[in-house]
Amino acid sequence: SVVVTGATGQLGRLVVQHLRAGGLPADELVAAARRPEGLADVRTATIDYDDPLSLETAFAGAEMVLLISGTEVGTRVAQHGRVIDAARAAGVRRVVYTSAPHADTTSLVLAPDHRATEELLKASGLAWTILRNNWYTENYVGAVEQARSTGVLLTSTGDGRVASASRDDFAAGAAAVLLGGDHDGRVYELSGDVAWSFDQLAEAASAVLGVPVVAKQVSSDEHRAILVDAGLDEGTAGFVATLDADIRRGDLADATPDLRTLIGRPTTPLVDGLRTALA
Ligand code: NDP
Repeated sequence: SVVVTGATGQLGRLVVQHLRAGGLPADELVAAARRPEGLADVRTATIDYDDPLSLETAFAGAEMVLLISGTEVGTRVAQHGRVIDAARAAGVRRVVYTSAPHADTTSLVLAPDHRATEELLKASGLAWTILRNNWYTENYVGAVEQARSTGVLLTSTGDGRVASASRDDFAAGAAAVLLGGDHDGRVYELSGDVAWSFDQLAEAASAVLGVPVVAKQVSSDEHRAILVDAGLDEGTAGFVATLDADIRRGDLADATPDLRTLIGRPTTPLVDGLRTALA
């Protein structure tokens, strides 16, 4: 059987749907999270990354575990380590992990947790597959919604590009890796087919909203100050500006064929991904 962690999350729910649609019987699929009660039509398991016993119990008898990275940046390496240890203890054959683009070499602010998890996985003795997911197109829904009234996408990304795909594309990719084929020891750089600029994001926003939208480029310092003036706390404002600086450097610009190859179709174009997410 296959255990999907984070199965109540936005990505995990879609992975479960794709696994079912791809023919995995309900009784061979375990959807796991802290509160899996609302999940229908699959076996469920209650797990907490901080509770090793819950993990070993959920993984007993499973062949594969999809470890969807946790949400607690900074502390999640220990959590992921517990998942990997429990998988080994339970006799799981392979762990599939959702990582970040070029996690081993990038300076992306979110990468250190992913790099450390990849290292734990590679040292675990288990078979593994690493899915280095680029950005979800859905990450920009909030900014696009704001632009409906302001007409502006505020950014400090400069000429940086983002090779995003929809969450559903990434979920389909993960399901493909779990459903068949030889993916042991493979590192996939999963991204959209196109690396778009923020001018193109503004164009897509215009098309979806039906109002003119432009990208307004500011410096990192200006960006941080504007966000703080708008009511964000310093930490969050700094984080947003840092992510934009990462994008400016090109950390999310690598558009690869890996995802489209896994899912056997083009990835969802930016404008379509935004339209669906806003609907
Ligand atoms: P969600 O926040 O929607 O889902 C996170 C999932 O993790 C939930 O199912 C939650 O389950 C589970 N989870 C969190 N903490 C624990 C814990 N201690 N024990 C067990 N389960 C836990 O995120 P998404 O589905 O949108 O994204 C999945 C992951 O991808 C994120 O967690 C993050 O690491 C990463 N991400 C990637 C982005 C990208 O653009 N590539 C953007 C944002 C995040 P529950 O709370 O029900 O227990």
